[in-house]
Parts: sequence; structure tokens; C-alpha cells
Amino acid sequence: MKLLPTRAELARACDEARASGHRVGLVPTMGALHDGHLSLVDAARAHASFVVVTIFVNPTQFGPHEDLARYPRDLDGDLARCAARGVDAVFVPAESEMYAPGHATTVHVARITETLCGPQRPGHFDGVATIVTKLFALTAPCDAIFGRKDYQQLAVIRRLATDLDLRVGVHGAPIVREPDGLAMSSRNRYLAPSDRARALALARGLSAASHAFEAGERRAGILRDRAHAPVLAAFDRVDYVDVCDPETLRVLGADETTGERALVAAAARLGGTRLIDNVVMGEEKPPLAG
Ligand code: AMP
Repeated sequence: MKLLPTRAELARACDEARASGHRVGLVPTMGALHDGHLSLVDAARAHASFVVVTIFVNPTQFGPHEDLARYPRDLDGDLARCAARGVDAVFVPAESEMYAPGHATTVHVARITETLCGPQRPGHFDGVATIVTKLFALTAPCDAIFGRKDYQQLAVIRRLATDLDLRVGVHGAPIVREPDGLAMSSRNRYLAPSDRARALALARGLSAASHAFEAGERRAGILRDRAHAPVLAAFDRVDYVDVCDPETLRVLGADETTGERALVAAAARLGGTRLIDNVVMGEEKPPLAG
């Protein structure tokens, strides 16, 4: 496995791989890798013969009061996990490598960034869209894999690739959960044992809405309430619990009815730790069995 610290080395490695007939697959991450990330590597392998993982805690996608400084970092562990999973190359740039002095360009995706996490994390999706555009430009991947855990991020990247005619297949991979149903996240490491139990309320809430949907409920207000109640009871603060159109991410009003597929998405905080989760009702199984 190649360890690549510079953009020039990354571009060269991908150029050489393509020249020898490989399809390049890209898995962008911020490191502190867990089984959710590694499932993206496996998904990339299904499309590509040269799989590149990028590890970069991208400062431009963090707000001024967010957890950039304390974001978990575990480079040695990450490299060992990538090597064991058969990754071909890992790109680990320094901040100055990605944002040289004079950097003045931001990629902004409108509309789809204006619901759910967007209003609560101003600038977040600009940071994501900008860094992903740079990674696409450097690697020119045939395929790139993103987790459905960050459902809105996946939708933003799909929009970006479509609108800018980026010649990359953007693929979503299912959420990987802990055995008890908690969605895996690098931020779960922040949770104290007592908070770890409370965090499960996210999966419980989404499951309650999903089960109601499976039983025929289509009123958005009722579905939203089913998801909201357990989260409100367990978390210190609820950022949102919303029922949305799964394509546009438009939040449905309480009096509206859903179609045969609907996204229920939630973000909530335990102390300083912000967790997100979602399920597409009508398409995915509830996170917890009934
Ligand atoms: P992050 O390192 O948090 O920026 O995540 C990097 C990629 O891994 C993103 O595409 C995430 O959606 C994906 N990811 C994170 N957690 C999970 C999970 N539990 N299941 C599937 N994909 C995930």
C-alpha cells in the first residue's frame, strides 16, 4: 500500500494506475476509521481495481465552535486498517497541502444544502463540496463512494457531480451500525458510557417512524412525532428530526402525506457531541427490529 503525502504523488499514482488499465475508486474520509469507513472500501473494490482512501480532517467544513481541534486522529491505526482491507493507496495531506496561501475558491451547492444540517452548520457543505471537488480533480476517479450515514452530504455530492459534469460515478453505501443499532461514527469515541446508552434513542426514534410507515402510516406529522419523542427524551438538545422528500430533501409539513419512500433524518446532541442518523422508509429496513 502506497502512503502519499502530497497532491503531486497522489495525482501521479492515479495517473500510473489508469495508464496500466486500472479503474480508480475513491473513498474520502476524515480518518479515525471504523467498520463503516471500511465498508466503503469494500464497495469501492466492487467498482474499481485501484482503491484510494483519503484521510484529511478538512478545516473548512468545521464551524468556529465545532470540534476541529479535538476531532479524533489515529493515523497508525487507520493505515493498518487500510492495509488489512487491501487499499492500494492512502492520501494523507497536511492542511497546507490542500489549502495553499492565496486559496480563494469555494464550491457552493444551493437548495439541497438549505435544509436539515445546512442551516445549523453554516459553511459546512461549502467546505465539503470544495474539498471533494479538489479530491476528484486530483484523482480523476471513475467511482467515488460515500456513506448514507451522511445522507445530505451524499445528495450534495451527487448534485455537484451532475451540475459540474464531473465524470465520476457517485455511489452511496448503507449505514453500518454497532450490534445494538447505533450508527458507527468517529464521534462515538467522545461518548461517556452513560451517554452511549442514551445515544441509542436516535436509532429507536427512526425505527419507531419506520415501523409506523411499514404499518401504513403516511402522515408526515405523525411519522415525525414517532421519531422525535425518544430523541427528545434522551438527548440534551435536538437539532432536528424531519421527514423529507428523499431526493430534494424538502422537509414535509405536518399536514402533508409522504410518497412510498420518505427520508426521516435526525441530528441531536449529548453534551458537546453531535450525532446524526437517518433511514429511508419504504426502501430500507428499520434500524432496530420491531
Ligand atoms: P467521515 O470520516 O466521518 O467524514 O466519513 C467518511 C465517509 O464515511 C463518509 O462518506 C461517511 O458517510 C462514511 N461513513 C461514516 N460513518 C459511516 C457508517 N456508520 N456507515 C457507512 N458509512 C459511514
